[in-house]
Amino acid sequence: MSDFEMEAIRTVWDAKGWFTGQENTTAFVSNVCRLFPGEEGLVKKLFLPRRAHFRLATKKDGTCALLGETGCLLPQEVRPYYCRLFPLWTVGRQIVALGPQCLAIREAKTITRLLDSMSMSKAKVFDLHARLRLAWGLPPKSGDPVVTLRLQREK
Ligand code: SF4
Repeated sequence: MSDFEMEAIRTVWDAKGWFTGQENTTAFVSNVCRLFPGEEGLVKKLFLPRRAHFRLATKKDGTCALLGETGCLLPQEVRPYYCRLFPLWTVGRQIVALGPQCLAIREAKTITRLLDSMSMSKAKVFDLHARLRLAWGLPPKSGDPVVTLRLQREK
């Protein structure tokens, strides 16, 4: 979670307990490296060993602290970028699906159907991914849409 994403959430729920610090373990850094192939060096600089990053806090049952009885307590536009994208991701100019065990992926079978089921356009996926990169401290990639981070609600 970036400072920007946490700040966005606080505009809706200004309470403590939504986030928690976690050490940048080797496993964590490896997982982030896998998300950004070819940028491992930069990722390792952003998530230095023995330092920590913030993540969403979880309840005793392991579910997200922001998960209410009828779903996420946050409006779409302030949810963390990773949440808004999941299970979609981009690699180069391709849209891919993360986590083959995800039910949505198994049911949709193709990326086109998965996009439809999530009411997402390809342009929106690249836009969210570009925002996530910026929020997490990675520079824009060639071919990415030009984005800026604002706390005002995005359209
Ligand atoms: S989408 Fe899910 S994981 Fe993300 S903030 Fe909402 S409840 Fe938490």
